[in-house]
Parts: sequence; C-alpha cells; structure tokens
Amino acid sequence: MTAIPGPKSQELLARKQAAVPPGIGVTLPVFVTRAGGGVLEDADGNSLIDFGSGIAVTSVGNSAPKVVDRVRKQVADFTHTCFMVTPYESYVRVCEKLNELTPGDHEKRTFLVNSGAEAVENAVKIARHATGRPAVVVFDHGYHGRTLLTMTLTAKNMPYKQGFGPFAPEVYRVPLAYPFRWPGENCAEEAAEQAIDMISKQIGAGNVAAVVIEPIAGEGGFIVPARGFLPRIAEFCRKNGIVFVADEVQTGFARTGDLFACEDEGVVPDIVTTAKGIAGGLPLAAVTGRAEIMDKVHSGGLGGTYGGNPLACEAALGVLETIEEENLVARARRIGEIMLPRLKALQERYDVIGDVRGRGAMIAIELVEPGTKEPNPAAVQEVVRRCHAEGLLVLTAGTYGNVLRFLPPLVIPEHLLEEGLGILEKAIAEL
Ligand SMILES: *Cc1c(COP(=O)(O)O)cnc(C)c1O
Repeated sequence: MTAIPGPKSQELLARKQAAVPPGIGVTLPVFVTRAGGGVLEDADGNSLIDFGSGIAVTSVGNSAPKVVDRVRKQVADFTHTCFMVTPYESYVRVCEKLNELTPGDHEKRTFLVNSGAEAVENAVKIARHATGRPAVVVFDHGYHGRTLLTMTLTAKNMPYKQGFGPFAPEVYRVPLAYPFRWPGENCAEEAAEQAIDMISKQIGAGNVAAVVIEPIAGEGGFIVPARGFLPRIAEFCRKNGIVFVADEVQTGFARTGDLFACEDEGVVPDIVTTAKGIAGGLPLAAVTGRAEIMDKVHSGGLGGTYGGNPLACEAALGVLETIEEENLVARARRIGEIMLPRLKALQERYDVIGDVRGRGAMIAIELVEPGTKEPNPAAVQEVVRRCHAEGLLVLTAGTYGNVLRFLPPLVIPEHLLEEGLGILEKAIAEL
C-alpha cells in the first residue's frame, strides 16, 4: 500500500526513537497491528510475508486458535498466583509433556522460567550443583542469551558483548564443526578432536560441569555441525561425567523437521533447554533434565516469580496440541523440501551464494565475495533491503553478518512460501 516503512510507521518510529534507547534495535521498522501464520499487517495497511516468526517463536502462527482459546479462558480465571506459592495444574501438565517429548526415555524432570537465557543459566547452575565442578565449555559461533552468564557463553563480541564486561569466570570456548569454513577434509572428526583435546589439556575433563551446545547454531548462522560431531561430543561427556546440555531454544518444537534437533543424530542430552517456539510468543522457557541430576538441587534452590505463568502454560499446551494435530513436524520437513532445492538452484546461478544449509524450516544462505569464501555482509544488507522493500521479512545472522536466515511459521500456506522465495530470488538476481 505504501513505501516500507509507510508514514504511520515512520511517525511511530520517531516516537520509538524518543522513548526507547537505541540499544533496542529493529530489523524492519513497520509497526504491526495484526499478524497470522505467515503474514504481518502494519499500521499503514501493508501486508508482509513473514520469514522470521518473531525469531523462531510463532511456529504455530501469531494467533493460533488453540493458543488464543486457552489463553482467553485462563486470563478470565486467574493471571498469576506464583507457582512457588500456590501451584496450578497447567504448569505440571507442560512439564509432564516435555518430560515425555524431549529425547531419551529416561526419567526426567522439568521446571519453567521466562526466557531462553534464564533456561540456559539454570542449566549451568544445576550442572555445577550436581557435579561440584566449576567449568563450562561452549563453542565457537554459539549464542545462548544476553544475561551476564549467557552473554559470556555467547561467542560473538558485536553486538552482544562489546563494552558489557567483565564477563563470568570459568567459561571456555572450543571449535565447532562448521563444514563450510573448516579447513581440513574431515570436519566432524577434526573439530571433535580439537575440542576434546582443548578440554582435556586446558581445563581438565574432571573440572568440567557442563558442555553447552546448540544442535544447530542459530544466531551464529544456522551452522549444522558436520554429522558425527554432536554424538562424539556427547560420548566424551558421558565418559567423563560432564553434563551435556543441548540448547534447543531456537531449534526446538518441530522447527528443524524433528520435534527436537538432537533427534536427527539420535543424541540424548542430559539437559535440554527450550524457549522460543514453546508457547506461541507468550514468555516461557523450560529446563528438562535427567531426574538424578535435576533432583540434586535443594528445595527452593530454583525458581522465579513469573516462571511458568499460567497464561504462558496454557499457550504452551495449545502449541503442543497444534503441533500434533496439524502434524507440524512433517510441515517443517516439507518447507525444507520446498526451500532447499530452490535455494540450491539459485546458488548454481549466482556465486555470491557460498553455502545453502539448514534443516526443516530453519534454512539459511551464506553470502560471499564471488569466487571466494570471504564473508560478504554488504551483499546481505542489500538483499535484505530489497526484500523488505518488496514486503518480505527476512532476518540476518552469522558470526560475520553474512547469513540470511529463513524461519517461516510452520503453518505458512505454500503459496506464500513460494511468493516469498520469488521475492528473494528477484532480490538476489538484481544484486
Ligand atoms: C534466543 C536464544 C537464546 C536466548 O533466549 P531469550 O529468550 O532471548 O533469552 C538462547 N539460546 C539460543 C540457542 C537462542 O536462539
């Protein structure tokens, strides 16, 4: 209807700039008035195709009927009691479901918090408590949040860490098996060897409480570790009494074509952290782990005022019902089957695309200086600008800022997916 952003959004943006600090950036400054599965409507009457899902959150859509109905009923009954003061059933039900659905058939426990960072932070607390060890091992290109500890766990300096130190102690970083950028022939074996060698020599395996890894690195650029890497690291942890924490905050809840990304290689984590796709946008996150690890922490040692808010719990139950009833695991696979071949065909035509990767509805392209592997963030900015102007919301990622990532809602109609891909193809062709 208008240029992007239109006059109403521009007016609101000016108010945002006066009221909100610039540290809170925005990717695409259109102010949203309504949103559904795959379309965002803005204040100027524009409709945009959504390839972002609010960063992998609204996998079931922005107003999925099962989520809306449950939340509407709950908000009329009660909004809060604090589960640690007087509990309610929906919290327990969410925990039962996560114990059942996360990888592994061992006995598990779950508790609920408000954000992905809080979940990861709690996983580290529990691993330290259970092992009595201090060190935490994380990976190159990792992202785990913005609190002091999780910012420390995060690999990338700008924009996440610059000026925010000093950082938390006892955090060590090892290489990730990044196939596109690994110099050797055997990415998985060599990266695992280096990681294990560094852990053994620099820290001592006996001092490590937890290894924290994303089964597909999200903010780092949708890096799918070379096959064999994750199982090798998990096995090393098992042999050395280290708690293996899978940070499935971005990859969880059907996003990758499995309910959880670890399932792809049959990896069974000791602790799984989840958030983003869990509750259709209501603030909720979870820590799910082996009963014998989780039960070590004393009564009252975990929690928080809002953790497992009743509205968020009802939303999560609505999300899980929607995933099951609409078979969104299969939908995610189908999205990958549509996107990957089209993007690979595009890569054949345009050598600015260095790599096409991802699984299910978590897909990315990495842009390079043609004929090299030199990161090309300027090309990404230009493609993003063109996509946004044409009404396709896409997000960026990557340690070098040169990755375009696609996270469409799993319920997106196929014609919108195709239309969005058409806009992207045109933007790259014009570039
Ligand atoms: C987004 C993200 C987090 C942090 O979640 P917040 O809810 O933003 O605190 C942690 N880990 C991963 C893998 C993420 O993608």
